[in-house]
Amino acid sequence: MAILTKETKMAHHHSNAMLEVPFIIAIRKIKSFAVSAGLNIEREEGGVLVRLGSGSLKVAGDRKTTSLELTAQSPAMLQQLRDAVALRMEKLETAVTWEAVVASSRHPANLSIATVASLERISPSYTRIVIDGPDLARFTEGSLHFRLLLGPDGAGWPEIDAGGVTTWPGGGMSAWHRPVYTTRSFELGADGAARLAFDVFLHDGGRVTEWTRDLAVGTEIAITGAGGGGRATNETKWHCLIGDETAMPVIARMLERLPLDAEGVAMVIIPDAKDAQDLIHPDGVSLNWVLRGENTNPTNILSQIELPDQDRFVYVAAERDEVAEARRYLKEHGLAKNEASCFSYWSASSAEDGLQKASNQ
Ligand SMILES: Cc1cc2nc3c(=O)[nH]c(=O)nc-3n(C[C@H](O)[C@H](O)[C@H](O)COP(=O)(O)OP(=O)(O)OC[C@H]3O[C@@H](n4cnc5c(N)ncnc54)[C@H](O)[C@@H]3O)c2cc1C
Repeated sequence: MAILTKETKMAHHHSNAMLEVPFIIAIRKIKSFAVSAGLNIEREEGGVLVRLGSGSLKVAGDRKTTSLELTAQSPAMLQQLRDAVALRMEKLETAVTWEAVVASSRHPANLSIATVASLERISPSYTRIVIDGPDLARFTEGSLHFRLLLGPDGAGWPEIDAGGVTTWPGGGMSAWHRPVYTTRSFELGADGAARLAFDVFLHDGGRVTEWTRDLAVGTEIAITGAGGGGRATNETKWHCLIGDETAMPVIARMLERLPLDAEGVAMVIIPDAKDAQDLIHPDGVSLNWVLRGENTNPTNILSQIELPDQDRFVYVAAERDEVAEARRYLKEHGLAKNEASCFSYWSASSAEDGLQKASNQ
């Protein structure tokens, strides 16, 4: 039997890159980005350390060149960081040379290929898709979300270049639709395998809605992640979870995680009474279904809830502008930053929303 030492359990993965730019210029650009993204920057001997959500970036250099060292706790997290830094450098018009990587697969380490095991229209507005994969275990405990990859016809799946950066066939990353979904439930298999279920809210004009129409058992799909660790909702006694149709899966996962003695209220917006699901929840947290009508939005729902003065936590996930309004409402009603988390799950004015935005969950 293999004995895990503390060191192997906390294994770190690294990736190095070189910029043909003086340190003083590179660090100015990196710092200005880091500050705008609210990232923590620390001075270190011989350089600067930027703390990223799932790892860190060490920047060092001299008058001619700058070196980058990325550190993350898993190959998948390292892949996500490397791709994010590569994209950022491209936007800053700074050429990067990544150290060659020896990879066991030509696919990015955060990409998993899975097979559709079943799909079922579970209610008028939702289709549940169940997928199996040999390495899906990282999408289970401790993470909530993933991106579904829908690429141009016949493009194949993304691969990595010699430096380990993801390349997007069929016209680059912008040619891909990469919406975020929530793992609704999972079963762990052997050796990192797992079966995941996710619920797709069906809506007019949705590319995923269209995609589900032709989907069949046995189809190969690809997902990336995982992302979103899930805000620890058990820090307070009282919880208020408000979400629209797209947030039903995350609210289901959060309710399952609450301690049995938790108190509060969960309010989920659905278009049809038959979309209500039988969600597991503590007795002290009432579960309510709100039928979508003309003025149904999180702020209206919030205004009907009496918030306790302390020991409280409010979670809101819905359409971007509605979430912004709810955030303002909560601020006006005196909730501190650590008492509320509000997430944009989709946007009525744009098709893409971010896993990045959800990565603090
Ligand atoms: C962290 C996170 C977790 C999520 N989890 C889930 C989940 O488990 N299940 C789920 O169904 N969704 C979930 N979503 C929302 C989902 O990613 C978006 O709704 C996404 O836009 C769906 O892509 P699409 O192909 O359906 O629509 P797109 O092709 O991206 O958009 C087409 C049109 O539909 C509109 N649109 C997009 N979403 C909606 C909507 N919900 N209602 C009405 N119009 C819409 C867009 O504005 C656009 O005009 C999650 C989002 C985030 C950020």
